[in-house]
Amino acid sequence: MDPLRFIAIPSNPELDNWGSLDPSQESDYTVMPGLEHKYEQTAVLLVSGTCAGICRYCFRKRIFLEKRKETLVDLDKALEYISEHPEINNVLLTGGDPLMLSTSKLDHLLSKLREIDHVQIIRIGSKVPAVNPYRIIDDPQLSEVLAEHMDDESSIYVMTHFTHPREINEVSIEAVSLLKNAGALLNNQTPLLRNVNADPRTLSELLNRLSYIGVAPYYVFQCRPAVGNRHFVVPVEESYRIIEEAKNSCSGLAKRVRYVISHRSGKVEVLAIDEENVYMKYHQAADRKDAGRFLVLPRNPRATWLDDYLKASPTARQPRRGIERYT
Ligand code: SF4
Repeated sequence: MDPLRFIAIPSNPELDNWGSLDPSQESDYTVMPGLEHKYEQTAVLLVSGTCAGICRYCFRKRIFLEKRKETLVDLDKALEYISEHPEINNVLLTGGDPLMLSTSKLDHLLSKLREIDHVQIIRIGSKVPAVNPYRIIDDPQLSEVLAEHMDDESSIYVMTHFTHPREINEVSIEAVSLLKNAGALLNNQTPLLRNVNADPRTLSELLNRLSYIGVAPYYVFQCRPAVGNRHFVVPVEESYRIIEEAKNSCSGLAKRVRYVISHRSGKVEVLAIDEENVYMKYHQAADRKDAGRFLVLPRNPRATWLDDYLKASPTARQPRRGIERYT
């Protein structure tokens, strides 16, 4: 099937009884509906319950599936929480897709966040540049609003979500240029997806083309074990090989990307694999005790998630500092 069709159109394997509705257990870090506080310095606001297209591999598809109050209902209360937590220096707007909000609503939200001195970075996670770039092109006010809420010491990062090189075309490049001209800094994150981008040639083309258009490749995520995702998931060790091979055809700028598992306990980067072990390190940790923790885990070619490794190494569950070897 065409890869772009595959990520947008429902298919039967989605009905397999597999995966969780909350694979990264975001509920553990939800302070109030629509506000998550997992990493000390980062608050996550789920500001929108809609997207420009529903990605079939979405790890947050629960917000579309169930009548649950997952998105923000009380902005004032959320802002009060962020104000009371000076350690929060950046706020990620996500959802759903924040660029599905009207420009005036987004303006209001950005103004309110800018009133909080310690919030220096605002991130907007969006697939709009890839799937509906006309949202940006046809609304010049959007770029103006973004520009108004940035200065030399307060940035807005747009975390784009280009998944396949064919999403980078004349129109999306125009949208990206408008965001860049407004002063936003652009980084890209994508999961590695079977039959979409999980081959070295496609992935290297994606990473290279992102670097050509001035979007920094930031994360390649292990596809999360969410309901309906089984047919997209590539085992960790295979993913690692694909990413490393893709990097061989990339410039240093294109290969800045990190391969991470966005696990309940933190963002765990897969660093290396040898004949016996997989080597990982906490890039972000929910619990300070795990910060920078290095993991040496016995190989498991079938593992698709960190838990598959941890199950085989029960002692790995006890967080400790430094280099640890689990056998
Ligand atoms: S844009 Fe993001 S939140 Fe929306 S469906 Fe796609 S992956 Fe899910």
